[in-house]
Amino acid sequence: MTTIGLLGGGQLGRMLAQAGLPLGIRCRFLDPSADAVARAVGELITADYDDAQAQQRFAEGCAALSWEFENVSLPAVTALSELAPMYPPAAALAAKQDRLDEKRFFNGLGIKTAPFVPVNANAALQIALQTIGLPAVLKTRRDGYDGKGQRVLHTTEEAQQAWDQLGTVPLILEGFIAFDRELSLLCVRSREGEIRHWPLVENEHRGGILHRSIAPAPASAELQPLAEAAAQQVLEALDYVGVLAIEFFEHQGALLANEFAPRVHNSGHWTIEGAVTSQFANHLRAVAGLPLGDTKARGHSVMINLIGAMPDRRAVLSIPGTQLHDYGKAERPGRKLGHVTITGDEPDAVLKTAAAVEALIAR
Ligand code: AMP
Repeated sequence: MTTIGLLGGGQLGRMLAQAGLPLGIRCRFLDPSADAVARAVGELITADYDDAQAQQRFAEGCAALSWEFENVSLPAVTALSELAPMYPPAAALAAKQDRLDEKRFFNGLGIKTAPFVPVNANAALQIALQTIGLPAVLKTRRDGYDGKGQRVLHTTEEAQQAWDQLGTVPLILEGFIAFDRELSLLCVRSREGEIRHWPLVENEHRGGILHRSIAPAPASAELQPLAEAAAQQVLEALDYVGVLAIEFFEHQGALLANEFAPRVHNSGHWTIEGAVTSQFANHLRAVAGLPLGDTKARGHSVMINLIGAMPDRRAVLSIPGTQLHDYGKAERPGRKLGHVTITGDEPDAVLKTAAAVEALIAR
C-alpha cells in the first residue's frame, strides 16, 4: 500500500480515495472539520492546515502529498513540501490564489482572458469602469468560489452598491463576456512530463454554481486543440504534476480562459463512469509516480450536480442508466451534496435521461 496525504477532506478527497483503493493507494486527509466527508474512506487528521505538529503526523509515511481544496494557506503547503514530495508544486497554488495573478499568468503565456483591472479603492473602481465599460463583473481577488464574492454590474449605481458590499478586500473588475457557452478542459501531467487530456466539457452554471456538464462538449472538435495548447502552456509553466482544469468562455469562436483549478474538478466527475480512466485515478497515478491511464470518453455523459437538498434516492435510481453519488453531507442551501451521471452511446438518449433526473431535483 502507498499512502498519499491530501489537504482537505471534502467530496473530492472522498472520490480520490475511492479511486485509490483498486490502485493500492490509501489516502490520508488533513482537514479542520471533524465532519469532513472523506473520513468514511480514509484516515482523517482533524487540525488546522497550519498546525505544525499535525503536519508532521499527516506527512509521516506518505509517499507524496497533494490537495483537494485550494484555499489552503501557502505557508502550510510550503512547510509540508519540506516533509514529503508535494504534487502539484506549491507554485501552482500561488499562481491560483489571487485572481489578478491568475489572469496575468494566463496573459503572460499568451492565453486570452476577459479584460481586467485591479481595484483597490472606490476611486480606482470609477477609473476601472471607464477602462472596462459596462456591463462588468466585480470580483474579490481571493477566496471566491462557486460565484461567491462577485457581482455583475450593469449601472454605476450597481457598481457603488457592489463596492459597498465587497470593497473591504482587494478586488478585480472584469469585462462581462456575453459568451456562447462555458467549457472546461481537464488535463493531467505525470512526474515525467507526459500530458493527457480528456475531451472538452460543456458546463451550465446556475447562480454561479455548476449545474450540469455535458461530455464531450457538442461541436467542440475545432476548439479541442486550442484548449489543449493552452493547457500544455499552463502545465509546463508550472512544472505541474496531477490533474488540472481550465475553465473557458467560448466567445465568437475563440476561447477566453476564465480560471484554472489546480486539482480535480467538479466538471470532471463524469469521468468516473464516462472515461476509460477517471480524473481521480489519473490524479493519484500522477502524484504517486505511476503511468497515466487512457483519458478517452466512453460514449456520451451528462453529470448533474445535486445542490442544497438530495432527491429521493429510489426515484433517481429507478430511472434506467443513472449513477448516483451521495457525498454523505448534511443538506444546506447552495451546498454540493452529490451528483448523478448518465452515460450512453446516443447523445439524445443521454440528454433525455438527464432531463428526467432534472425534473426530480427541480421539485
Ligand atoms: P468564477 O468564480 O470566475 O468561475 O465565475 C463564476 C461564474 O460567473 C462563471 O462560471 C460565469 O458563468 C460567470 N462569470 C464570471 N466571470 C464572468 C465574466 N467576466 N463575464 C461573464 N460571466 C462571468
